[in-house]
Amino acid sequence: MNLPERLRTGTVYSFEFYPPKTAEDTARLFNTALELKALSPDFVSVTNSSSGVTPYRTVALCGVLKAQFGLEIVAHLTCLAHTRREIAEICDGLKKMDITNVLALRGDPHNVDSGARRSDYSYAAQLIADLKREGGFSLGGACYPEKHPEAASLEADIARLREKVDAGAEYLITQLFFDNSYYFRFLEKAAAAGISVPVLPGLMPLTGYKQMQNFTKMMQVTVPDELRRGIERWEGDKDGMFKFSVEYASRQARALLDGGAPGLHLYTLNRSRAAIAILKNVKGAPRAAA
Ligand code: FAD
Repeated sequence: MNLPERLRTGTVYSFEFYPPKTAEDTARLFNTALELKALSPDFVSVTNSSSGVTPYRTVALCGVLKAQFGLEIVAHLTCLAHTRREIAEICDGLKKMDITNVLALRGDPHNVDSGARRSDYSYAAQLIADLKREGGFSLGGACYPEKHPEAASLEADIARLREKVDAGAEYLITQLFFDNSYYFRFLEKAAAAGISVPVLPGLMPLTGYKQMQNFTKMMQVTVPDELRRGIERWEGDKDGMFKFSVEYASRQARALLDGGAPGLHLYTLNRSRAAIAILKNVKGAPRAAA
């Protein structure tokens, strides 16, 4: 699969998984992967812990999902806890599994044990430049419609993003967001800064009040009043919460596609039910006239 090309020419649907830690979670993920495979996703992506301790969990899971499940894979690769030599070894592992799509990331400093930190990298752009030089990978990067929490402003963040694209990122996947106007504003500002690669929006239905609080604190994303009120209203009612939050995310997804987004990247938390419901709503609905 040539993902950048696919993003330019069609509507891409993808799912994000994380490497499970227990046998039970592994069984659930494989079940999820089977159910979601039935929706013919363009790819699934597999996250990678920025601690640097377990990179081969991601490599192995990517290999299984590709070889046993026949899924197209994007492997996340974080650099903050790695030397150049370690990154080269992980990349060799990915190539042995025939994984050629990499989402190149920095990772979060608070996940890296400062005693163990021996990185050759400070920012994702450096990793992207190394991987580009090494060759054999199609590269993507992360972006933040409401700016990365460490950035002084959206404009400053986009200037740094341009460096990632110049270094070799051929497409971008966004941080989750709940208000589409941030995505469309971001596209305008990125285009004005000379960024022309496709930007795949990342979506996730909220499942509870605590999760909403965590996201707003950690990722600094805005929760619109309507969504906040719904989450408060349905807290404690699992079915009501599911229905509300899938309906909200489905509306968001449809509006993104109608507005010209190149597809949808669903953060699944290794579960299939919400992703299936959202895609059914989206694919079943007639698209607005262009
Ligand atoms: P960068 O692009 O390096 O940017 C980080 C910050 O540094 C930004 O504020 C940027 O403006 C600034 N900056 C960039 N270059 C410079 C410079 N030269 N000088 C000064 N400032 C600079 N985390 C994981 O641990 N594992 C995952 O699998 C994972 N997957 C993700 C997938 C997506 C789609 C997204 C959006 C995020 C993901 N993350 C993951 C989280 C990500 O690692 C964190 O958000 C991290 O803090 C930033 O990563 P980045 O690659 O965007 O960093």
